[in-house]
Amino acid sequence: MSPSDEPIRRAAVQRLEDLRRAGVTQLSKRQPDPMANVRAKTQTSAAAATETLDIVQAEVAACQQCHELASTRTQTVFGVGDPSARLCFLGEAPGADEDRQGEPFVGRAGKLLTDVIEKGMGLQRSDIYILNILKCRPPGNRNPSPDEAANCRGFLDRQLALIEPEFICCLGAVAAHNLLDTTTPIGQMRGQFYDYGGIRVMCTYHPAYLLRNPSAKQQTWEDIQMLMEAMGMSK
Ligand code: URA
Repeated sequence: MSPSDEPIRRAAVQRLEDLRRAGVTQLSKRQPDPMANVRAKTQTSAAAATETLDIVQAEVAACQQCHELASTRTQTVFGVGDPSARLCFLGEAPGADEDRQGEPFVGRAGKLLTDVIEKGMGLQRSDIYILNILKCRPPGNRNPSPDEAANCRGFLDRQLALIEPEFICCLGAVAAHNLLDTTTPIGQMRGQFYDYGGIRVMCTYHPAYLLRNPSAKQQTWEDIQMLMEAMGMSK
């Protein structure tokens, strides 16, 4: 480590101490070096001034990395909401409705998510940011393959680096497993915070699962209330 890395080292130590005091007990396996995020932000601040969500969105729209997805999609589905939101909701991939409309979570599951945001949290969809692990619809709504998720990962991380949310709420196992690089069942992951590069992450059930299993809505509501409390929002 060179002397010029010292401010980065101190920032990372401070960040870890803040996290410990905030009750974070686990760091994602994907971030074995919590300095990576700090370093990237520090060193690329000049470059970041020219990077925008519009640029990332244009690259997503032109992406052909996953041949099957690129040849079957109607359009890519980038994300929607406040580009400087404190909270991102992260889903798995667009479905048929999203593929048609070009916006995440606009079908039946999306209606339930909107109710959680508006009726449960007292926010508007435009107050938060909604995005997915994959930006293209997998045919037949199958799960994203590991290769597809890996191909799209750079776009997701660039979106998050630009939005700089304080919180992410992963909706369902696919979002939680891909973001945090784990295979722990979602039922065991929910109800606690994880860390992803300094962002506090709550994992809860996917709204499509809640449509099939309404009795799990109570647990999701408890997760959302934990999130609201951590965000300093009144419940
Ligand atoms: N399910 C998801 O995970 N994302 C969407 O955008 C729609 C449904």
